[in-house]
Amino acid sequence: MYLYNSATHKKEEFKTHTPGHVEMYTCGPTVYHFAHIGNLRSYIMEDVLEKYLRFAGYDVNRVMNITDVGHLTSDADEGEDKMLKGARREHKTVMEIARYYTDAFFDDCRKLNIKRPDVVQPATGLIDDYIHIVSTLIDKGYAYVAGGNVYFDTSKLDRYYVFNDHKEEDLAVGVREGVEEDTNKRNRNDFVLWFTKSKFEDQALKWDSPWGVGYPGWHIECSGISMKYNGEYLDLHCGGVDNAFPHHTNEIAQSESYLGHPWCTHWTHVAHLNTEDGKMSKSKGEFLTVSLLEEKGYDPLAYRFFCLQSHYRKNLVFTWENLDNAVVAYNKLIARLASTDPKDGTVDEAALTELKEKFSKAMDNDLNTPNGVTVLYDILKAKCSGATKWAAVEAVDEVLGLKLTEKAAAQRAQQAKAASASSGYTVVSEDGEENAEIEALIRQRAEAKKAKNFAEADRIRDELKAQGIEITDVAGGARWKRS
Ligand code: AMP
Ligand code: ZN
Repeated sequence: MYLYNSATHKKEEFKTHTPGHVEMYTCGPTVYHFAHIGNLRSYIMEDVLEKYLRFAGYDVNRVMNITDVGHLTSDADEGEDKMLKGARREHKTVMEIARYYTDAFFDDCRKLNIKRPDVVQPATGLIDDYIHIVSTLIDKGYAYVAGGNVYFDTSKLDRYYVFNDHKEEDLAVGVREGVEEDTNKRNRNDFVLWFTKSKFEDQALKWDSPWGVGYPGWHIECSGISMKYNGEYLDLHCGGVDNAFPHHTNEIAQSESYLGHPWCTHWTHVAHLNTEDGKMSKSKGEFLTVSLLEEKGYDPLAYRFFCLQSHYRKNLVFTWENLDNAVVAYNKLIARLASTDPKDGTVDEAALTELKEKFSKAMDNDLNTPNGVTVLYDILKAKCSGATKWAAVEAVDEVLGLKLTEKAAAQRAQQAKAASASSGYTVVSEDGEENAEIEALIRQRAEAKKAKNFAEADRIRDELKAQGIEITDVAGGARWKRS
């Protein structure tokens, strides 16, 4: 598989420290508010990446943090803690806010069919680990205490800007216009590892440390959580593109200085979802959430489909019209699959392998999901049995996560029900169980009998019998029960 690596600025063959195994880390949400659909674009694409690695045969250990402390309103060390801001907004405690928005985040993930990572760790749960890392960095001469805070000394590094596609002046922390420079910093890019003194003394969450009562900086959380659950060698680190600097740059600085060896080999950054006016926001303009999509009658999976139609490294513009176009295409895809009979013929293993390989070829090229989606149309057009098409869509959709077979099966069952209602043939189970698949088979048997295809009618009766289903023919339909 070839994947673009932000650290080397090239598309590279994806290699892991242990063959066949991927240690993967994703920056998780800051749980001070609902995620907007821009945040969720990143999580959808990271979910596809994880699922594709598994599809390609890797065993994956995926770790994600939940930021419930330390992320300031600026990604650098300025402003107030976002959590505190959220708590004040809603007149709740920080921990109440964290719990509420963590649940809301996973609820959104469930609706978007985003798998929960193997390990999910709230940042407040590993304070001792961060204290240990910060102490070690001080002992090794990479960190210093000034004005009560602990800072990382970036002058100790040969190379600080790893993702250096940008101009240094644009990236420098603490020198933006209108921002007061922190005079405790020895170098303008130094960043806080542990705060004890800050402009916002009413910080709700504080812990004792060798440097006084305080709280960790945002960056140290991700290093600490990853090193605990992924080990010393990380294969793949993901996040939105805004995380590259300063967050990921600082993660690398502190992790490698602490470990004394290279840390993460591969960095994947998802480009932004923007509105027509520019940056997506939680405070200005329409707050675009999954709930809002639902309120307006959209299936969240149509939004997932919308995201998959674009490459993850390209900026994507969200408009309702663009989403409407995705809805039309998504529904057509489901309808086309529903018009194919999954019981038509048997699975042709050679054809199935060929279709799966076509999908791999698209995805192996830097996770090209637009081409991956095109393979779905190729499958539906392919000259093979319905059974093969359904098996191929199911395999590919393990990665794309669009629930295509589930939705097409439901559509087929509904169509069958409507058709039988108009034909007057009713099927009921004796114990009230609703089972669309069994019902469909019983109807197929009735159709076969009507067409005098008694061999097929008997075959279906035997198939049901093998499942422990007994049928009784009654006037105008059939009854069934489990024996
Ligand atoms: P946060 O909750 O602010 O820590 O952000 C969660 C994730 O969303 C991070 O990986 C960000 O890089 C990412 N992100 C933020 N804004 C956008 C956007 N407009 N489009 C895509 N990803 C974003
Ligand atoms: Zn992070």
